[in-house]
Amino acid sequence: MSADVPRPIRKVVIVGGGTAGWMAAAALSRLTAAGVAITLVESEDIGTIGVGEATIPSLHDFNRLLGIDEDAFVRATRATFKLGIEFVGWGRIGDRYMHPFGTHGRDVEGVKFHQLWLRQSRIDGAAGDVGRLDEYCLSAVAAHAGRFTRPSDNPATVLASLGYAFHFDAGLYGRYLRQLSERTGVTRIEGRVTAVERSEHNGHIAAVVLDGGRRIDGELFVDCSGFRSLLLGDAMGVAFDSWQHWLPCDRALAVPSTSTAALLPYTRATAGTAGWRWRIPLQHRVGNGHVYASAFQDEAQAEDDLLRGLDGAALGDARRLRFVAGVRQRLWEGNCVALGLAGGFLEPLESTSIHLVQSGISRLLSLFPDTGFASAERDEYNRLLRLEYEQIRDFIILHYHATTRDDSPFWNHCRTMDIPASLSGKIALWRSRARVIRDQGGLFTDDSWIAVLAGQEPAPTSYDPLVDTLPVEEAGRFMHHLRDMIAKTAAAMPRHDAFIDRHCRAD
Ligand code: FAD
Repeated sequence: MSADVPRPIRKVVIVGGGTAGWMAAAALSRLTAAGVAITLVESEDIGTIGVGEATIPSLHDFNRLLGIDEDAFVRATRATFKLGIEFVGWGRIGDRYMHPFGTHGRDVEGVKFHQLWLRQSRIDGAAGDVGRLDEYCLSAVAAHAGRFTRPSDNPATVLASLGYAFHFDAGLYGRYLRQLSERTGVTRIEGRVTAVERSEHNGHIAAVVLDGGRRIDGELFVDCSGFRSLLLGDAMGVAFDSWQHWLPCDRALAVPSTSTAALLPYTRATAGTAGWRWRIPLQHRVGNGHVYASAFQDEAQAEDDLLRGLDGAALGDARRLRFVAGVRQRLWEGNCVALGLAGGFLEPLESTSIHLVQSGISRLLSLFPDTGFASAERDEYNRLLRLEYEQIRDFIILHYHATTRDDSPFWNHCRTMDIPASLSGKIALWRSRARVIRDQGGLFTDDSWIAVLAGQEPAPTSYDPLVDTLPVEEAGRFMHHLRDMIAKTAAAMPRHDAFIDRHCRAD
């Protein structure tokens, strides 16, 4: 076929068998029905990054796309349920708040619930006795109580407002997706890619060459090679935009530990003096890690912080990981699309990396180039993914910047650094009248922004004047009733462990 005639896309080659590679293989294998062959190359010698255990609720969409039975998936990956993230010591040393999945209260006649809460909490007397904002979010109340059940389909019930995701074993998740993919026709090739051949005609990738000389050609290449970015970065030369000036953490230490107590249905993120620690409960162990900025803390101190913070015994030595926050300037270049760490990295503070893989896959499926490559599709893909990275970046920066901590050079840097204009506008809106306007297509809901802003920022100067259209006493009664219903609903839920025992405990 002449090089000028667009070729039908019949062969997709995925390089890398980490979470990104197998998620891509499982989802793209749906295309095999349309005559597209999917091949995945991975190297067991190189291995995978082996971390990435906490998710957000969007994973339900991915599971649905693959027709995954949730109990079987939880059992296979030794997962637990996640109702949110508890942030400890971020706004101030000693304080804590929950960023829960799900919604806070219920809007009343066009008035946002958190605005109502803000007004009532400034009033003396019974109508102002409204407690904390998270007492109006079922996911937060259930998380604090260590309870879990699945949400109700009936939108009229409080239980319909519950949101949840999972904590799982990343290695087992990869294995699970591999089984699904191989069943639907994906071919797996073991081998190390040692060279990438590019077409002299248009610079597209023509083939990857493995050690031993085997050549694997294709029309579309999906780079899931992890931080190495073998195809998009190395072969295609797409530059990396660093966001380290806003997100200075560039190292992590990770170690699993034994479980010592009941399984918590939430992730805990505890701020330290130069970064933070995660605690992720799985059925068979606890995942722990310490993310820190090497400009502000050395490795020995970081390891000491990590090990001192464990509530069980360490199961082995800590793994060392290095990274830089940022993203490739284009995630789709020529005939190469990068997913996962090969495309970019944002630290796991809000557990968004697996979501970004999923988002890349679903946009690739919706713009899939059946014949040749049109720049309109590539440009749209790049625009949407870039926007999503930037929106998540801003949300993560918020956690570092919205603080009064001045106990270390790290926090002094984060508190006083310049931040993107897209974020400073949002903070200003919150500070004056607690307004939160969600970005078009933004991943984080108003409730997420409200949780973090209310959890870390000082109280806003005022509230939305619309609230004053609602009578104070009546609003107080409504809120007391709602808080009571949420508390009773949470109390009636099974304990998280008991729910797992009943439905999805691994053998
Ligand atoms: P990898 O797992 O590194 O896989 C790369 C693959 O490419 C491997 O199979 C490797 O063998 C293969 N490969 C590389 N070079 C070659 C070659 N030359 N030839 C053949 N094969 C090759 N995400 C979340 O969503 N939640 C979290 O809680 C979370 N926590 C994290 C904590 C830390 C400290 C870090 C660093 C990341 C975390 N992530 C998290 C991100 C998450 O780990 C990754 O996004 C996810 O695992 C996807 O990784 P990957 O598949 O892109 O890369």
